[in-house]
Amino acid sequence: MISSLKLTEMCTHCGFCLETCPTYVVTRNEVHSPRGRIEAVRVGINSIGFETCMYCRLCETACPAGVRYAQIITPVRKSSTKKTLMEKMLENPKLLSKSLKLLGKVNSYPDVERVMKFVKPNEISEPLENNEEGDIILFPGCIESVIFRKTVEKAYKFLSRNYKVKIINGCCGLAHISNGNYEGARKLAIKLAEKAKGKKVITLQSNCAAFMKEYKEWFGIEINSYDFAEFLIKEGIELPKVNDTFTIHYPCHAYRQKLVTHIRNAAEKMGIKISEMEDPHFECGAGGDYWIFHPKLSDMVMNIKRDKIAKSGVRKVIVTNSVCALAIRSMGYNVYHIADLLDT
Ligand code: SF4
Ligand code: SF4
Repeated sequence: MISSLKLTEMCTHCGFCLETCPTYVVTRNEVHSPRGRIEAVRVGINSIGFETCMYCRLCETACPAGVRYAQIITPVRKSSTKKTLMEKMLENPKLLSKSLKLLGKVNSYPDVERVMKFVKPNEISEPLENNEEGDIILFPGCIESVIFRKTVEKAYKFLSRNYKVKIINGCCGLAHISNGNYEGARKLAIKLAEKAKGKKVITLQSNCAAFMKEYKEWFGIEINSYDFAEFLIKEGIELPKVNDTFTIHYPCHAYRQKLVTHIRNAAEKMGIKISEMEDPHFECGAGGDYWIFHPKLSDMVMNIKRDKIAKSGVRKVIVTNSVCALAIRSMGYNVYHIADLLDT
């Protein structure tokens, strides 16, 4: 891998990335901008901006010079005990489920209070499991598996009409890489690729799908991964009709990987009328675990997103990534995964 210092030389300081960056938009401070962060790496400053970055990588989508921002910022991101604990929970959804249930009862620390503001205690579930060998793998994703179990059940039921489906629970490593834990993410990628044994892996979290498509670039690991909507479209699966109007949020990493085309195509194939929101790819404010550890900045971004969604004129939002769903429903909207709409 090319050193992050060397990669900073690609930045021409043009500033085209600035308005895509949620932390710059809410602070108007270069320290919290992609350009400022890249410059801090180049000159060797340990900037506060490294930790305030939401790791949405939307800056990469606007950069005419093709600056590989993630490769620059990942090595300088610092984890913490809290983040390491969080990573351990995400790696093991059963542990995550138990921990969330317990945290709901000791709701007296700021971080816990913050989590329980977004998560309803009665929706925390054990992940859905099966022991069958399958033709395809359903990889729900860590948060999805314990907070949106009903969505997982619907996806499993729908896919099982045409395929033998094996469920693998766990974490793709996106949380780890965004915390600068390259080795932790690499180990999870190896583990998942070994379990998948070359079969198609379908995930319900679009940002996880986007990251899994980069396993080769980051770790040299091949995995045949699909976002759920991408799989439905590419396999030509017949979808039920839904006579209703929704707006669509574009999860940030899925937007970068152009997976949102499949999400739109699936919605259109179902006959859904789409009422456009402003800048559907604008960050929702969740940013992985950012919403827990940077509540002030996260709320500022969420306020902007709330207004952008409001311009769609509808309150039903298709959201195919679990932390985005937690953020957007906290704004007062009703959130639906494509899988939620398959039994209507
Ligand atoms: S990853 Fe997101 S928050 Fe970080 S610099 Fe890029 S656009 Fe800004
Ligand atoms: S990262 Fe790209 S878009 Fe942003 S200032 Fe540098 S060259 Fe311009």
